[in-house]
Amino acid sequence: MSERYDVDLFVIGGGSGGVRAARIAAGHGARVMLAEEYRVGGTCVIRGCVPKKLLVYASRFSDDFADAGGFGWQVDGARFDWPTLIANKDREIARLEGLYAANLDRSGVEIVRSRAVLEGPNAVRILADGRTVTARHILIATGASTVREPAVPGIAHAITSNEAFDLKRLPGRILVIGGGYIAVEFAGIFAGLGSAVTLAHRGEHILRGFDDDIRNGLEDAYRHRGIALRLNATLTRIDKVEGGLEARFGDGTSAVFDEIMIATGRRPNIDGLGLDAAGVAVRDGAIAVDAASQTSVPSIHAVGDVTNRANLTPVAIREGHAFADSVFGGRPWTASHTLIPTAVFSTPEIGSLGFTEAAARAAGKDVAIFMSAFRPMKATLSGRAERTIMKLVVEKASDRVIGVHILGDHAGEIIQLAGVALTLCATKADFDRTMAVHPTAAEELVTMRIPVR
Ligand code: NDP
Repeated sequence: MSERYDVDLFVIGGGSGGVRAARIAAGHGARVMLAEEYRVGGTCVIRGCVPKKLLVYASRFSDDFADAGGFGWQVDGARFDWPTLIANKDREIARLEGLYAANLDRSGVEIVRSRAVLEGPNAVRILADGRTVTARHILIATGASTVREPAVPGIAHAITSNEAFDLKRLPGRILVIGGGYIAVEFAGIFAGLGSAVTLAHRGEHILRGFDDDIRNGLEDAYRHRGIALRLNATLTRIDKVEGGLEARFGDGTSAVFDEIMIATGRRPNIDGLGLDAAGVAVRDGAIAVDAASQTSVPSIHAVGDVTNRANLTPVAIREGHAFADSVFGGRPWTASHTLIPTAVFSTPEIGSLGFTEAAARAAGKDVAIFMSAFRPMKATLSGRAERTIMKLVVEKASDRVIGVHILGDHAGEIIQLAGVALTLCATKADFDRTMAVHPTAAEELVTMRIPVR
């Protein structure tokens, strides 16, 4: 490769997308440097998916303890200790961070522990020492950050998911604002751990974009679990008062909480990156890229949340991998953004893939809906009232299954394999001729015969 530049690839950002791209490019023989200003691993590893899932596991023990009685177990005196969980979580995150750094190192990637900004189409300045590094290619993989919106008076008193991972103590009363992935997941975590949780969302229903039956099902389950759902609710101000934080709402009501957590979305990290200096175009607050993740500057690519396409770790990884193979491996390919299976780690859990019923109808598709809502087998002895929901959206003309939506235990695990089936363009007839695994909840997916609509 050309020696005109200090390196073949400079990656800004050591999260999921940047790390994958750096390692693959180095594997193809590129000289790679990667700058990370915070901790290697990025949002997913340090303050996202991984610590979140650990907290979700912790939160579900309360269900196990409650369910145990019906199976003959007496679990007396179970107590939860937040500092133990957080310390153990921190240890695991540190271990993973070390692994990420070691793997980069082993791949021959040079890690620079500093913020880096663009100076031009082929130049990056490292802020820690002021040096300029020239690069044949630059990859921006700086991710996204939490926002504190709505910008109401007193919003500075609120925390975001970043701080939620490191609270000194489990809040007795917590208000979560938002109705997306993060709000719903943290409401479930805190409720499972024993906090009194209020979830306030501006919309009529939580989880916009998910299938309506699943949204309704989760709202029912959350209410049943004692989470106070305030829908059509707008936060208007926060005040520090004796004994906590007082939240006021648009309908004139107010309540006091120990913590207020804002989970109203994330914004691409583009500020102060030197995009103007390099001539990189921005669209709607995100770096504009084509299908190959190339920006308006041919030598600069961008992957992951900073491009605001599908803001999910596996997607960023795929985009980074495709970029590195295409530019350095002589094997051009692009990451597909259709048919992305996704899970919401609420309790009960959601797995979702493809068209929702509403989206299919809005797209003018003639669809048959297969749905089963049932109490899972475990509930027969535990006495838990919660229902599992399995739903298939089938395009009548082609018989293809174009949507799978699940609410219930292990929905995330199940939807991963449904993803394989739909990627292979499975029809309802293919589902029907697939042998059931009995007794499972997932067998419902291959045994539903009569459409409900
Ligand atoms: P989301 O975009 O999922 O949800 C944001 C929520 O906040 C929506 O309910 C939205 O309401 C509401 N909202 C937005 N702006 C305002 C405002 N000004 N006032 C009041 N409410 C507002 O964002 P999250 O923060 O939950 O998550 C960020 C991203 O991280 C997700 O998009 C997802 O891609 C990713 N993620 C994925 C996870 C997973 O795969 N399990 C887990 C966590 C995060 P409305 O619907 O009305 O717009």
